[in-house]
Amino acid sequence: MNLKTISNHPIWSGLVVAGLCSFAGTVTGLIDWAEAWNIVVMGWRYLTDSSTVANWLIALVGLYIIFTFILFLRNLPERVSEVSWLSYRTDKFFGVQWRWRYIDYRVSNLNPFCPSCDLQLDPVQDSMFHAIDSITLHCDCGAGPWRYDKSWDKLNHDVTKRIQQKIRAGSWQADPGNS
Ligand SMILES: [Zn+2]
Repeated sequence: MNLKTISNHPIWSGLVVAGLCSFAGTVTGLIDWAEAWNIVVMGWRYLTDSSTVANWLIALVGLYIIFTFILFLRNLPERVSEVSWLSYRTDKFFGVQWRWRYIDYRVSNLNPFCPSCDLQLDPVQDSMFHAIDSITLHCDCGAGPWRYDKSWDKLNHDVTKRIQQKIRAGSWQADPGNS
């Protein structure tokens, strides 16, 4: 007896349908539909019911949000100024214009420029005695020369110190590039 014979036979097909219905009934019988519906209704009521959350809890959460917002506003000017001093990247020290960058908040790539024509200046060691540090900055335009009784490293160090001093004092904002 094959499947086609079963489907054509009224008694056999009747038994198969009865068996399938019984199986489906067993599966759906495992789920308590009334209970499931109850859970859905309770969940919806919980979400929409305002009395399930105590008022003091709402007040506490509200205060927390307000407090966090005030803290954020108080720190805002500090953050803005921290960012804005990074825009201070040129100033006049020891008679010439200097430009630099910041790497990890430290002055870097410090270079001198001619105050007349803005050409970058190269330091020339002009001491005949190596024991005495002395450098000169010359410009092609004829301005200068600017002579310093210190090494190139010492001059860089001194300029960096003055930059840092102006950042600390905040005076770079009042008079940027004209000290
Ligand atoms: Zn020049």
